[in-house]
Amino acid sequence: MRHNAEHGCRHCMVTRSQLGDIEYDIVNNSRYHHITSNLLFRLRTDFQTKAAQLRFASEWGLSISSDNPLDELCFDRHLQVPLDPAHVLLQNISRILIESTFAVLNKSGEQKFADALSRMALPRGWSRFADPITHLNSFFFSDYGRLVMVGAFVLLHLDRMHLSDTALLRLKISGSGRPQVLKEIIRCWTLMAQTNVACFASSMRQDGYNDMYSVIRQLASQLLKVCRRQELRNR
Ligand SMILES: [Zn+2]
Repeated sequence: MRHNAEHGCRHCMVTRSQLGDIEYDIVNNSRYHHITSNLLFRLRTDFQTKAAQLRFASEWGLSISSDNPLDELCFDRHLQVPLDPAHVLLQNISRILIESTFAVLNKSGEQKFADALSRMALPRGWSRFADPITHLNSFFFSDYGRLVMVGAFVLLHLDRMHLSDTALLRLKISGSGRPQVLKEIIRCWTLMAQTNVACFASSMRQDGYNDMYSVIRQLASQLLKVCRRQELRNR
């Protein structure tokens, strides 16, 4: 699979312009083994020129290398290689939320966040955080998860003076006033924390899947409320 493809998702046929459409029917538009096999067959047989082959590969998110190890899987190259929740939720969405939040803070906002975090009482057994403003790149999966859990409380220490004028313009909700922007960002963090808790729980109640579905949907709506679709596509 290739990044930046028109149909770049490993599991469904969503197009770039449909990314962020919360109503997109993933079940009806799933990407199945036989569909990809057919596309790969066309990729290797239908094209006279390298350029045309490359265009087709990039439209459908296919690898042009001929010896792809996923071709040898017995069952289904999509179902057999499931998404890894730790990468998706912690290393990806949580990290992007943290980075995007820091991106709307000005210098004094960053300082305030780092100070408030370093003074915060943490749950027993937790080690202190490295300064996330300067050391986010050295964070592990669990650090992202832990930071999102306490981050909303840290963000409560910030006020309108800590937001950057220019960065705010990139947010969809920038017209709704700074206190409101901060409130919506904090809501992203609390829903992100709830989603992580629901997805990484060591046990699940009988209706756990419904709870998980509900909180993931709320998180998706909230993120779409704050970010422009364009920003999501550019990730
Ligand atoms: Zn998909």
